[in-house]
Amino acid sequence: MATLKEVLGIATQSKTAIPGFNIDNIEIPEAIITAAEEYHCPVILTIGQGAIQAGQMHHLADVVRRLADESTVPVVMHLDHGASYEQTIQCLRAGFTSVMFDGSHLPFEENVRITQEVVKAAHAVGVSVEAELGAIYGVEDGISHSRDNLVDVDEVARFIQQVDVDALAIGIGNAHGMYQGLPRLDFDRLQQCQALNPPPLVLHGGSGIPDDMIRRSIALGIRKINVATEIRNAFMCGLESAVGQRNIYAMYRAAAQCVHDVAAAKIRLFQGVEAPIQIA
Ligand SMILES: [Zn+2]
Repeated sequence: MATLKEVLGIATQSKTAIPGFNIDNIEIPEAIITAAEEYHCPVILTIGQGAIQAGQMHHLADVVRRLADESTVPVVMHLDHGASYEQTIQCLRAGFTSVMFDGSHLPFEENVRITQEVVKAAHAVGVSVEAELGAIYGVEDGISHSRDNLVDVDEVARFIQQVDVDALAIGIGNAHGMYQGLPRLDFDRLQQCQALNPPPLVLHGGSGIPDDMIRRSIALGIRKINVATEIRNAFMCGLESAVGQRNIYAMYRAAAQCVHDVAAAKIRLFQGVEAPIQIA
């Protein structure tokens, strides 16, 4: 398995973004890896709070490890929106190669303090860390931020001086779930953050952001883009399309095909037509 730091290094060199796809069962990561292999693209398989609350953390970790061992592309096993220091440590023990600690809802100093502790533990065993500044609004896996809380550029500057993270998620008007109307992304703010020479920046809430906004975000330094809702919707649409056959494997095949097609489209978009990712 690869670490987040390794694959984001590839993205930085090629000026592309690596997709972080949420996974909730066995069929979704299989379909995603098939797409990633077709495009020779590294992929981040993300286990989120919904899957963990459903008791799936260790099952999914086993599945990802097996798929990664057999894959021809670098695969990262990543914790999404880590809820506590303790949960990130549980993921270190379960074999994750990357953990996010989301302290964006905490007072700034508290976010710094706990993220520092997570970094100290994770880096001791070679695991990457993603942090978050500026809460990302919308609801994901029961985590809700009702306000559009744009990241404070001065806080980014202070944060990256104090905490050695491998990736930083920032709120620039992006949201979890599907958007009502067009998202309003603050590209000036993204540019100001990138000018601080931060670690690779992460855009959450990638579902439903128009392609031109995605391309612009990548041009301005976004190196990881999370997609959860569109993957889940694709799986459910596929199941629905085949439910009349009353054949569970036909339903899984239809669902996997839909997930594959969404993942492949995101990979093509995030790679950029002119700059496909090359893996040595
Ligand atoms: Zn998120």
